[in-house]
Amino acid sequence: MKIFKSPQIREIDKTTIEQEPVLSINLMERAAWQLHKFIEEKFSKDKPITIFAGPGNNGGDAVALARLLTDNNYNANLWLLKIGKDRSADCQANIKRLEGYSNIQTHELSDNDKFPEIPANHLIVEGIFGSGLTRPAEGWPAEVIEFINTLPNPVMSIDIPSGLFSEDNRQNNGAIIKADYTVSFEFPKLAFVLSENELYVGEWQALSIGLLPKTINDTSTKYYYTTENDLPLLKNRTKFAHKGHFGHALLVAGSFGKTGAAVLAAKACIRSGSGLLSIHIPQFSYSIMQSCVPEAMLVIDETEQIYCQKDHLEPFTVVGAGPGIGQKKSMREALHTLITNTDAPMVLDADALNIISQNHELMDLLPKGSILTPHPKEFDRLTKKHEFHYERIETAREMAEKQKLIVVLKGANTAVIDVNGDVHFNSTGNPAMAKGGSGDVLTGIILGLLSSGYDPIDAARLGVFVHGRAADLALQKESEESLIATDIINHLGLAYKSIRE
Ligand code: ADP
Ligand code: ADP
Ligand code: MG
Repeated sequence: MKIFKSPQIREIDKTTIEQEPVLSINLMERAAWQLHKFIEEKFSKDKPITIFAGPGNNGGDAVALARLLTDNNYNANLWLLKIGKDRSADCQANIKRLEGYSNIQTHELSDNDKFPEIPANHLIVEGIFGSGLTRPAEGWPAEVIEFINTLPNPVMSIDIPSGLFSEDNRQNNGAIIKADYTVSFEFPKLAFVLSENELYVGEWQALSIGLLPKTINDTSTKYYYTTENDLPLLKNRTKFAHKGHFGHALLVAGSFGKTGAAVLAAKACIRSGSGLLSIHIPQFSYSIMQSCVPEAMLVIDETEQIYCQKDHLEPFTVVGAGPGIGQKKSMREALHTLITNTDAPMVLDADALNIISQNHELMDLLPKGSILTPHPKEFDRLTKKHEFHYERIETAREMAEKQKLIVVLKGANTAVIDVNGDVHFNSTGNPAMAKGGSGDVLTGIILGLLSSGYDPIDAARLGVFVHGRAADLALQKESEESLIATDIINHLGLAYKSIRE
């Protein structure tokens, strides 16, 4: 699924209307129908609904919704906001269609009226401004937005929370609806997947109204939302396959007090298809690793250099480094030697990234197509402080394109950024993953996929998706409190099966 920018969505609307062909008012009816279905799934018919409709097509959707809800025996109260001089043609046409509906309570609301009293049991649906908003909401419309925000009622926004811009909200100081639900059409908006908008967007869905994205000649969009259907296909092992076909991964992880990070990454790696795994570990953790991950080979690190020399690195087809390695001087030097001597694609995480932040020359030495997996703070250490995730994504894109690296910016809706600047936002995962160790598991998964023959971008996208899916499946048995990184590893099998089906 692609994330289009608002002008592109407007063009897709227009070409769908011409080419399907369908009347714009019928497209509006489909949107209202989807809104109505969403409400029907969530709320019973005894839930009274108060609807605020603005002057544009967003308001038109709201008016049409009031009619469909009434047809289906919901009790709908409609407030038509008087903003500006005119209402859009389709909005007016829908107001006209209300004639004869004596059971819809329709009121006009303008800037010299008092705000209505809305009982606390009502669902509020708002279609004040849609993605046609051209400047921050100010004046009386902003007062309406603030009024709705002070109410205890649940709020559902049509298409986008009124006042929010679809993409870049860095300069937006206007009033913005704080929605509990946002129901959008066909494509998600970039704003929905950015952490700074969490308070406004709430739970969101993009429901189909039959828009035809192929009708526009689009070269500028670089945002995608990764659902199951957009994933690279999983490879199947052939009958005569042997372990030599699935690579030999080297994992450099763990240090005193952080052996657990190495265990988690190693287990996730061997559960993600790698043919062979060797782990570079400090002496003291030998017996821990041997008993926790008997499938892996261990090479004991006496000097913190042993696996970093060119001749030692020959057997390895991929290299993962970072989880739990710490940032001691000897480790910094070892990482330098490792990066200098490796041609195989690397997966770099955690302290490997922190070390690179302090030694920026290492960035230019990384094998092309290597994968960096920073969380936002690690990314900011690597680059600069970012206030908005919107901006962070742009910086990550520049880095990926310039250095020919894949950047996996972790968090809710992890962004996987390809060497050509394409950004894939992930749809799986949940807040129970916000715990130490989850990221170590991801490093192992991506390393295992890379080892077994996926291209770096496919390994990163599949890895991020499967990591979140495994955590979602684990959450069926665990709670947000109790889920731990090991549960993610233990559900990898089901997660892979679920996307192969
Ligand atoms: P669409 O019709 O594309 O869904 P909207 O419903 O958001 O768009 O249309 C909003 C209407 O309000 C448009 O006519 C637009 O010119 C106007 N408008 C846009 N921004 C503002 C604003 N900040 N304050 C008042 N009116 C606005
Ligand atoms: P650690 O280094 O302790 O293993 P990281 O911060 O590196 O943890 O990684 C955490 C992982 O958990 C990332 O893959 C991130 O995407 C995921 N995660 C964290 N919080 C959330 C959340 N709220 N929703 C979805 N995924 C999350
Ligand atoms: Mg981490």
